[in-house]
Amino acid sequence: MLTGIQIAVIGGDARQLEIIRKLTDLDAKLSLIGFEQLDHAFTGAVKEKIDEVEFSNKDVIILPVPGTGSDGQIETIFSNEKVYLRKEMLNETPPHCTIYSGISNSYLDGITKQANRRLVQLFERDDVAIYNSIPTVEGTIMMAIQHTDTTIHGSTIAVLGLGRVGMSVARTFQALGANVKVGARKSEHIARITEMGLTPFYLSDLDNEVKDVDICINTIPYLIVTASVISKMPVHTLIIDLASKPGGTDFRYAEKRGVKALLAPGLPGIVAPKTAGKILANVLSQLIKEDVKK
Ligand code: NAP
Repeated sequence: MLTGIQIAVIGGDARQLEIIRKLTDLDAKLSLIGFEQLDHAFTGAVKEKIDEVEFSNKDVIILPVPGTGSDGQIETIFSNEKVYLRKEMLNETPPHCTIYSGISNSYLDGITKQANRRLVQLFERDDVAIYNSIPTVEGTIMMAIQHTDTTIHGSTIAVLGLGRVGMSVARTFQALGANVKVGARKSEHIARITEMGLTPFYLSDLDNEVKDVDICINTIPYLIVTASVISKMPVHTLIIDLASKPGGTDFRYAEKRGVKALLAPGLPGIVAPKTAGKILANVLSQLIKEDVKK
């Protein structure tokens, strides 16, 4: 249980509701900032404005998956008010206060470092990233169906990258009957792709490998689907770029050539916010319990 633990939940989308539900079930005391348009009330959670929050008693601050913007603004889909996280707020918190976020940026890194508070990026954890790859793949399938007039079954699909998302994407599209080839740069990844019964290729051969692809799914957060690569694709190729913004595709050139290229961020929050929220809620509650024991 988290009885007596004071937590500020600042902003976010429907995924945060699962986190709030889980933490209130565990008897934590929650301040909800950026939720005034949410009809639902949670026992043990109070809606507050950011300038009313008493940061001096907070054990934990929970930010939404994207963390903050580069100016400290926090996305709040349940509020019209602009909410900013400032270093003065963190300075008010007790030294043991931990800040949880999905990902970080230089602004958030900077203010937590200056305030000497611990920042935990949940999406850096393998468990979160692997669980989260499940709704990501389902969202990718949805996009492939919506944006093509052929079946996935029998299509030739190139998946770029064999990380936590790439592996789940490749395996699932193969299970749907696609001819899947996977591009990687490490020989151990090439070995794993072979072991999985997929067709491996080195990313250095990408220009050649895209000549017959119907769908190209990128998971590499680095410009990899360059103008040169796109120029070798059939014009009907659909590019689905899953890598975090700005993606790994030359979108300008794709548009110029008439190749449909879609940047598809945040799929778990779109196609399965409840599951995506539960994934975060389970890991968060476990981590906070471990913090409390220390
Ligand atoms: P990951 O496990 O770190 O995998 C990244 C892959 O990219 C690895 O295979 C890595 O290969 C490769 N890579 C990185 N830099 C490269 C480079 N310069 N050249 C060639 N290969 C490179 O990450 P992940 O968890 O799979 O996530 C992949 C991306 O998807 C991230 O940007 C993440 O934010 C995003 N994501 C998006 C969604 C969505 O809804 N769209 C959901 C979840 C995650 P090496 O091992 O060789 O470095």
